Amino acid sequence: MRYDSDLLYRPPGEWKSYLLQCTIGCSNNKCTFCGMYKDKKFRIRPVEEILEDIDMARDYYGPGLQRVFLMDGDAIIMKTDDLLRVLHKLYQSFPRLEKVTLYAGPRSTLAKSPEELRTLREAGLSRAYLGVESGSDTVLKFIRKGVTADEMLLAGRRLVEAGIDL
Ligand code: SF4
Repeated sequence: MRYDSDLLYRPPGEWKSYLLQCTIGCSNNKCTFCGMYKDKKFRIRPVEEILEDIDMARDYYGPGLQRVFLMDGDAIIMKTDDLLRVLHKLYQSFPRLEKVTLYAGPRSTLAKSPEELRTLREAGLSRAYLGVESGSDTVLKFIRKGVTADEMLLAGRRLVEAGIDL
């Protein structure tokens, strides 16, 4: 329930979701076309702070919450054990919770093993939004996306193979 700024971003389809800030800003933050997090220095919030926020949300919203979106950009970059703690706490605090979603950076996704991604899915990570932008290496380089088309494709495949909605 605590946010670093009033300017928060989420995918349009997440309008009903409780927004839980796990990272501040974007781990890449270099894309030429994107100004979302240009004013923010990227950092991962301490997990204890995130767990406290979940307690605050439980007090504020009650137990009926059904959707949660993990902000800001690239929450999947968190250590897998920490992300699992967040997921467990969310499902424990909100018994009717159906979906937990996040923005996934392609490099952070590839840094996780297929087993880690499957464990996250089993713990309730339902969907990842991956900003593919282009299948052209030339374009991806020009916009400073930080990965090649093949790496982007592999990141998407890993998420899908883990059973995460992409
Ligand atoms: S990775 Fe996404 S959020 Fe980060 S700068 Fe690029 S488009 Fe923006």
